Amino acid sequence: MRRALVAGNWKMNGSRSDIGELISSLVAELGDGVNGVDIVVCPPFPYLNQVADAAHGSELVLGAQNLSEYSSGAYTGEVSASMLQDFRVRYVIVGHSERRSLFAESNQQAASKFVAAREAGLTPILCVGETGEQRSAGQALQVVADQIDFVVGVAGIAAMAEAVIAYEPVWAIGSGESATSQQAQEMHAHIRGLLAAHDEDVAAAVQILYGGSVSAANAEELFACPDIDGGLVGGASLDAQSFIRICKSVS
Ligand code: PEP
Repeated sequence: MRRALVAGNWKMNGSRSDIGELISSLVAELGDGVNGVDIVVCPPFPYLNQVADAAHGSELVLGAQNLSEYSSGAYTGEVSASMLQDFRVRYVIVGHSERRSLFAESNQQAASKFVAAREAGLTPILCVGETGEQRSAGQALQVVADQIDFVVGVAGIAAMAEAVIAYEPVWAIGSGESATSQQAQEMHAHIRGLLAAHDEDVAAAVQILYGGSVSAANAEELFACPDIDGGLVGGASLDAQSFIRICKSVS
């Protein structure tokens, strides 16, 4: 049986004091853990240490929002996987649609970052998803298949067993309108099927999260779908009470 996972992606939000308040509310309510659910918070880089200290001794786990595909050297402004490890990070988001669209990250870069994360012992959360135009054109299943296949081709199918996949339809991110549970379940089953064509055990084991306007109001219905193993939560993760309710929505 797969464990559920709920990850909060705080994006480029907050200040030292906002983040201090947010993490202390989360530790107070979720610090002893929620049965069967792994809970991950992904603050901006400068606050990783602050959040690691505040969450120390609790069940909350630290994630990062990005990493470099390179291990060290003259890459001004970049942060390596081993640096994240040093700051007690365990998960890292790879290939988020904002990285792909705003920073021109390719499938190749997402795959290289995925490999770099794994080499440092981090668990990548690989984001995939189609744009609204691609969905309207009937290309959603193929776009997501291409994104998954690229990473499987580079990293190998076995690596997927030690990773997390997040299906995040680009049109649903930050829009206030999530995919319906039927749309999400269809894509999650498709992703699991793609992996099963390589290795059924890997497909059965991998956690597949849904992301895109998850809220306290829709989480329970989404998380009840058989192939949805939790969520990657953006906006709603900045509000402690919403995120707490989302984490407790896993049945
Ligand atoms: C995200 O950016 O990963 C995300 C899911 O954002 P939101 O929940 O705000 O749609």
